[in-house]
Amino acid sequence: MTGPRVVIIGAGVVGAALADELSARGWSDITVVDQGPVPATGGSSSHAPGLVFQINASKTMAEFARYTVEKLGALDLDGEPCFRQVGGLEVATTPERLAELHRRHGWATAWGIESRLLTPEECAERHPLVDPDVVLGGLLIPTDGLARAVHAVEAQLRAARSRGVRVLERHEVLDVRTEDGRVTGVVTDHGELAADIVVCCAGIWGPRIARMVGLPLPLTPLAHQLAWTGPVPALAGRTDEATLPILRHQDADLYYRQRFDGLGIGYYGHRPMPVDPDDIVSVDKAEVMPSVLTFTPGDFAPAWAETHRLLPATAAAEITEGINGLFSFTTDQMPLMGEAPDVKGFWVAEAVWVTHSAGVGRAMAEWLVDGHCSSFDLHECDLSRFEPHQLAPDYVLARDCQNYVEVYDILHPLQPMEEPRPLRLSPFHSRQRELDAFFLEASGWERPQWYGANARLLDGRDIPVPNDWAARYWSPIVGAEALASRESVALYDMTALKRIEVSGPGAVAFLQRLTTGDVDKSVGSVTYCLLLDVDGGIRSDITVARLGRDLFQVGANGNLDLDWLHRHADDTVVIRDVTAGTCCVGVWGPLARDLVQPLADADFSNEGFRYFRAKRAHIGAVPVTALRLSYIGELGWELYTTADMGARLWDTLWAAGREYGIIAGGRGAFTSLRLEKGYRSFGTDMTFEHDPYEAGLGFAVKMDKGDFIGRAALAERAASIRRRLTCLTIDDPADVVMGREPVYDGATCVGYVTSAGFGYTIGKGIAYAWLPAELATPGRALDIGYFDRRVAAIVAEEPLYDPAMRRLRA
Ligand SMILES: Cc1cc2nc3c(=O)[nH]c(=O)nc-3n(C[C@H](O)[C@H](O)[C@H](O)COP(=O)(O)OP(=O)(O)OC[C@H]3O[C@@H](n4cnc5c(N)ncnc54)[C@H](O)[C@@H]3O)c2cc1C
Repeated sequence: MTGPRVVIIGAGVVGAALADELSARGWSDITVVDQGPVPATGGSSSHAPGLVFQINASKTMAEFARYTVEKLGALDLDGEPCFRQVGGLEVATTPERLAELHRRHGWATAWGIESRLLTPEECAERHPLVDPDVVLGGLLIPTDGLARAVHAVEAQLRAARSRGVRVLERHEVLDVRTEDGRVTGVVTDHGELAADIVVCCAGIWGPRIARMVGLPLPLTPLAHQLAWTGPVPALAGRTDEATLPILRHQDADLYYRQRFDGLGIGYYGHRPMPVDPDDIVSVDKAEVMPSVLTFTPGDFAPAWAETHRLLPATAAAEITEGINGLFSFTTDQMPLMGEAPDVKGFWVAEAVWVTHSAGVGRAMAEWLVDGHCSSFDLHECDLSRFEPHQLAPDYVLARDCQNYVEVYDILHPLQPMEEPRPLRLSPFHSRQRELDAFFLEASGWERPQWYGANARLLDGRDIPVPNDWAARYWSPIVGAEALASRESVALYDMTALKRIEVSGPGAVAFLQRLTTGDVDKSVGSVTYCLLLDVDGGIRSDITVARLGRDLFQVGANGNLDLDWLHRHADDTVVIRDVTAGTCCVGVWGPLARDLVQPLADADFSNEGFRYFRAKRAHIGAVPVTALRLSYIGELGWELYTTADMGARLWDTLWAAGREYGIIAGGRGAFTSLRLEKGYRSFGTDMTFEHDPYEAGLGFAVKMDKGDFIGRAALAERAASIRRRLTCLTIDDPADVVMGREPVYDGATCVGYVTSAGFGYTIGKGIAYAWLPAELATPGRALDIGYFDRRVAAIVAEEPLYDPAMRRLRA
């Protein structure tokens, strides 16, 4: 098989990995073009010092890195290794960082990467330049090491060439040709190349290439300082290029690698130095290479002083070389991968570190050849994940610069971005401010986490206080709101959830084909179902409300869902993202009907408006679409209206709700209540890598309704369930965990936590976790690794709250 005609733009470490992986899968009509000389093209890979630290909060990123280590570790170039497994050492000089190293040890363990915590003395044993009096401890990752990026480029290109891949150096791509929304080829300064697929692996030049097909690519090249010392006397006589572990001193935004008797020092502590991709000089005009800017010693001065403190032996050395080297940053620190939404055949693999390059190459190759990626969950990397405002140049620049600043920071899982804010305001916003809301941010929306005005609800309630880390972005009011929601009635602003309208004569057939549910039911039906990929992996969980014969409202998780629908639509369906023009308030709690019925011009009785049904009605003067469902597990409705009527809707409910003790509830309470009810959250509890059965969502799959995407793969997956999303409870209220922690059976890590929080109704901590199926038995005692502690947890029957569904169906 030769496969389609592929042109890969860029022979950096990403383009080379992709050429190798694609050709290894049997595609060989592949041309790699690069404007520079290969393999040292002048791009970022040409001067990367090649440190590969695998640990990452993201499981996918850690897995990309692990694959890079495996692959490059087995590669050589004329007998020269492409990877030196010298190990990685991260040190802490503050108590906060030491705690963070424990958290990172937890991630590593959860993702299956060996790591060990070290005392200061052990740090100095591993890396003799480290002053043990300066550090409080360290984390050793024995399989980390140094990639030799240029060697890796050449070795992977050689392998690709041996399978027929062509590599054209000094060919600059000037344009990408398209016809009827498809790529047809690229124009270079040496002529045209026909192509069915073009993959942009152009690194910092990516936005320039993407613009050729009208695609905005949200990344910014930023200059990053890398300096090299001359001989460090304490390293005199070292003849191996590197034997010392690569070293990270994140408290000071620094990292180090050995080069014979000197050191390479990378620094993230300086001011962000963004560069417009259009201002990058050409290969021929560049003084050194296009991705290298002149070193600015003034910016490096604090790094050098701090280096002397951590590694005193460096005081006897000098900085002899330095660069401000360019590489790509993105708004969420994740790569950009996938096919352009509007140009078939134009793909990108961008903003990828050397660390993740081989993993990304493999993921892209699987995606291109098989139509989906089976080795990695790519939902965090997909190019189509962004909301429209997240593509605005101002936003991209601000976020990318901030991510440069924060690259080594200790980030709390709930920590919101600070700038640019506020961006998106729901129509309830002014009312929420009046209630002294504490706002976090979700997809740009200001979203209340709790309301200061609810402090009065604390009277007479004893809300347990979690540990320090879990108590950040938390208030006891969260607990009071959760309890009050189960007692009276609460308003929850659900505007941030994505709403998509699907209409047209083909709408029913379209949704039947895309979802696991049977949506061809009466007008007014609501169906909870899933979007699956062809391999049966969960792409999203959605609710589909049939509002007319050919009209559906889909409650979705984000832009990836919108993109997935668009990609599968034909001209018999119209798909519209109606989120921005509408709003939604959840009116939930045992008194919800008492509140809503008198205000409504329709029957909201239990018989007249059943659970999982939808209706159009008026609430006072406000036209609404009401869906009887609730994520918090209480009676109630989601009320949707247009943005212009939102404030009126809130005011109407609020005024009438006073006699029922109405409150506004924040996201903190919402999360606690949904965990008690066992409702899964896509992206955290389950992702592309999980199937419905292991995620406990088999009930949402209607195998007998006819064919749908993913159906064929499900039969096999249903028969071989090896892991399960499992509910654990934690008795000690202080022991709330936050997610991504390892779960242990004795000394063995057996899984990891997804969502977690405290259940105020049940009085216990809750942690959902992926566990081997044989351990997912109620009553089983396990431990969760939380920083430097073990937290005792027990597998519980779920849902923990109202399993008989009496509250919801009342
Ligand atoms: C100073 C510095 C230190 C770093 N340290 C590390 C580290 O320790 N560990 C780590 O993992 N990462 C590190 N990085 C990041 C890493 O180097 C990059 O993320 C990675 O090399 C990007 O690889 P790439 O293949 O995407 O891009 P590149 O290597 O830049 O390749 C892109 C290629 O596209 C070609 N191209 C662009 N436009 C055109 C065109 N119009 N026509 C033809 N060809 C074109 C370019 O010539 C280039 O060869 C560092 C980066 C810098 C700058």
